[in-house]
Amino acid sequence: MAAQLIDGKAFAARQLAAIATEVAALPFQPGLAVVLVGDDPASQVYVRNKARQTVQVGMRSFEHRLAGDISQDELRQLVERLNADPAVHGILVQLPLPKHLDPEQIIAAIDPAKDVDGLTVTNAGLLAAGQPGLVPCTPLGCMLLLQDVLGDLTGLHAVVVGRSNLVGKPIAQLLLARNCTVTIAHSRTRNLAELCRSADILVAAVGRPEMVKGDWIKPGATVIDVGINRVSGADGKSRLVGDVAFDEAKDFAGHLTPVPGGVGPMTIACLLRNTLTAAKRQHRYSGA
Ligand code: NDP
Repeated sequence: MAAQLIDGKAFAARQLAAIATEVAALPFQPGLAVVLVGDDPASQVYVRNKARQTVQVGMRSFEHRLAGDISQDELRQLVERLNADPAVHGILVQLPLPKHLDPEQIIAAIDPAKDVDGLTVTNAGLLAAGQPGLVPCTPLGCMLLLQDVLGDLTGLHAVVVGRSNLVGKPIAQLLLARNCTVTIAHSRTRNLAELCRSADILVAAVGRPEMVKGDWIKPGATVIDVGINRVSGADGKSRLVGDVAFDEAKDFAGHLTPVPGGVGPMTIACLLRNTLTAAKRQHRYSGA
């Protein structure tokens, strides 16, 4: 059996087009501020892509590139200025931060109404309580793909491998809200392969290249591979692989996200969707 691939790139492009149409109809222009500390090359690429796509959908992009040795106080003061700036509706502090900075304190300084990454304790609490807030972008993207492929998720057994605040936990909450029976697995889970084989929906958010093998997958299951891992091939060239062994998985899964081109493109689309949502709430806008 060959799995049907879930084309996140095409889905994200449709989302971005819909966002651009909504933005064009607004009586105000949503603005997203992205804060990058230091010169991590991967983060620089992400930030550049985010800024480009922000402008493409008609929003304002505010980029703040700061020296790697900035102090905790200086960074917190910038976040507070952005909180107070009415042109900025969304704030994203690119992680990871250099080691001398405390990410929890910086995230806590972001106004929850502008926390478009959904990482503040307020937004995590709202998600856990089933109340409207801002949901982390990658988990939101995974849910949009799952709902597109499967429609109603009621009663399905979802296994989420990974329990980070950024990915695993919020995905589990969102699946629960859609009436899945959810199991969260992590590095201390016993019989992981067997557990995964019981999943109708398997979400891998681990950060270990190709850890989930083909025979861990129940035939016909829907597999969402969140992992992005750079590995060196036999030819010495580097390439991106997910947390799922794609070549094996495609013989077992019913639907499968590729890496790249699956979950990745959905993350930026959901960031801009969250910025639009945040801007509308800040303007108390419900029209059009
Ligand atoms: P973290 O490192 O924060 O969390 C990894 C999780 O995997 C932890 O809960 C850990 O368990 C669990 N884990 C580690 N090893 C094992 C194992 N052998 N068996 C079972 N569970 C294990 O990573 P993130 O959640 O931030 O990211 C996960 C992956 O998703 C990464 O590859 C990352 O690059 C990618 N990612 C992709 C995004 C996208 O846009 N597509 C966005 C964000 C992340 P424990 O808690 O016990 O340590």
